Amino acid sequence: MSIGPTAPHRRSPLRHIPTFLVLAVHAGALFAPLLFTWHLLVAALASYVVQMFVITGGYHRYFAHRSYKTSRVFQFLLAWVGASTMQNGPLWWASWHRYHHRHADTPSDAHSPVLRGFWYAHIGWVMDGTHDRPPVDNLRDFTRYPELRFIDRFSWLPVAVFGAVTFLAGGLGALLWVFALATVASFHATLFINSLAHGPTRRPRRYDTADSSRNSLWLALLTLGEGWHNNHHRFMSVTRQGFRWWEIDVTYYILEALSLVGVVRSLRQPPASARLAPRPARPRPAPQPG
Ligand SMILES: [Zn+2]
Ligand SMILES: [Zn+2]
Repeated sequence: MSIGPTAPHRRSPLRHIPTFLVLAVHAGALFAPLLFTWHLLVAALASYVVQMFVITGGYHRYFAHRSYKTSRVFQFLLAWVGASTMQNGPLWWASWHRYHHRHADTPSDAHSPVLRGFWYAHIGWVMDGTHDRPPVDNLRDFTRYPELRFIDRFSWLPVAVFGAVTFLAGGLGALLWVFALATVASFHATLFINSLAHGPTRRPRRYDTADSSRNSLWLALLTLGEGWHNNHHRFMSVTRQGFRWWEIDVTYYILEALSLVGVVRSLRQPPASARLAPRPARPRPAPQPG
C-alpha cells in the first residue's frame, strides 16, 4: 500500500507503515473475541457505522463523485476520518474510483473480478504495490487542497491516532473491538463492492450498462447503501443510490439528515423515471478476458 500519491520519497522506510498497519489491525481483530462484552459489541457496531459512512458518504459520494456540496471544514473531517479507516487517503481512493468508472471491467480497470478474479479485485490490487500511485490528474478539483494532500501523504497517521485514542479511552478491549475489529469489517465490506458487486448474474439487471455491475440487497445492508451498484453505474453522479422505496440506502438517509441541519447541501437526485419501475434489461454476458 502507498502512503499517498504525492509522497516524493519512494524509498523511504515510511512506505512500509501502511502494510504493517493493515497486518497488525487484522491480527488485533482476530484476538477481539477473547475480550468480548456487550458494551464493546455495541461500541464496535457504532464505530463500524461511522467508518462505513465516511467511506460511502465521504470518499465515494463526495470525493469521487462530487454528488453534493459541503464546507471545507466538513470536507476535512470526511478526509481525516475516512483515512482513519485504513483505506488510504481520499485522493488515492477517489482517483482510483473515478478511474474504475471510466474503465469498469476493461483490462484497464484496477479491480475487475470478471477479468482478474475475486481475490485480486478484493485486496490483491491494493496490496501488490502496483496501484500505489493513482492517476490523480483525474482529481484536480481536490488535489489543490494542501490539507487533503497532507492526509493522503501521511494516510497512516489518522489510523494510528484512532487506535491510540480508543486505547487511551477504553483500554485493550476498546482497541481490539472499536478500532481493530470495526476497521477490518468496514475495510472488507468496502472491498466487497469491488469483488462482489461486479460479475455475471443470472437475474436480469435493471440497467444494461457496459460493465458487469449488479444490485445486491445484502451488500447494500452491509455497506449502508453501496450495494445498489448497477443503479450507481447508470447514474454515478447522484447522491442517492437506492432508487425504489425498498432499496435501503442508509448513507443517503444520513446525508439527508445532515442537509436538514445545513452541514451538506445540493444533494443530487436520480431522474424521476428512475424512481418508477423500469423494465429490467436482459442479462448481458460478462466481458471475457483478452
Ligand atoms: Zn463498480
Ligand atoms: Zn462510484
